[in-house]
Amino acid sequence: MIDLHTHTDESDGTLTAFQLVDAAVALGLEALGITDHDTLAGYNDAAPRAREAGLDLVCGIELSTRRRARAAGIRGRSIHLLGYFLREAPAEGFREWLEGIRLARRDRNERLAARLRSLGMDIAIEEVKRLGRSQAGRPHFARLMVEKGYVANIQEAFDLYLDEEARAYVERDEPELETGIRMIAGAGGLASLAHPVRSSRRNPPAFEKDVGEMREMGLAAIEAYHSDHRPADTEFFLALARRHGLAVTGGSDFHGDNKPGLALGTGYGNVAVPREVLDKLRRL
Ligand code: AMP
Ligand code: FE
Ligand code: FE
Ligand code: ZN
Repeated sequence: MIDLHTHTDESDGTLTAFQLVDAAVALGLEALGITDHDTLAGYNDAAPRAREAGLDLVCGIELSTRRRARAAGIRGRSIHLLGYFLREAPAEGFREWLEGIRLARRDRNERLAARLRSLGMDIAIEEVKRLGRSQAGRPHFARLMVEKGYVANIQEAFDLYLDEEARAYVERDEPELETGIRMIAGAGGLASLAHPVRSSRRNPPAFEKDVGEMREMGLAAIEAYHSDHRPADTEFFLALARRHGLAVTGGSDFHGDNKPGLALGTGYGNVAVPREVLDKLRRL
């Protein structure tokens, strides 16, 4: 079993890179992909530790992108992309581009803290930063809101305030989907569509058409195995990948205590990514 979708505390996971490597070894994973949001810091820290432990570590990243809106004035949907760098580290230009994304995230964080204060919550950006190491995200805001008793748990913080549809949501300047795909491919990576069930749920035929377009943009794979997927979803995405000549990827989307009940490797007990998935990616 392998797991190609995990987060360390360099983004919004709660385990350090070392702890995550150790957990993967203890679990007997044959390969671990670290896919932090917008940063390679967790992977970089984990690499020497994984080498010592003999763990097959995969360099990855997860980016939030926006679909270009079909009509002016309407915001496009948020789509997450995974990027895998199987042969060499991403080029310098790509890493500089990520720095710009992190700046936009910090700007969003300031505005989000102000928004929560305007709703009567005592949330200071310094406190959020303390939880977020190199970069904070919404899950860190959620943790703080739980600590301060404004909500009962992380999920409630999202449902009531932080979700895209909720009252305290503030937008962040995100790259367009096409830019994200092209940047990953241009940096020598494989772009994979993360947890596709979130995009396909509403309208599977429209989604299938979108996948065709993404493939034209340079999408290489689709995440068929994910903790949000029921067995029927996984079957659907495996078949869809076959129809479009795409590879598949898979992982738990492990976030430590920031996603309670979700285990490394197995998700909610519904994930088991075959080793072959990675072997095939390496053969591309
Ligand atoms: P950010 O990148 O800071 O905007 O935060 C996005 C992260 O928040 C995602 O990667 C998830 O870990 C988490 N997240 C986003 N929406 C939800 C939601 N509705 N419920 C729970 N967690 C969420
Ligand atoms: Fe996350
Ligand atoms: Fe995601
Ligand atoms: Zn993720």
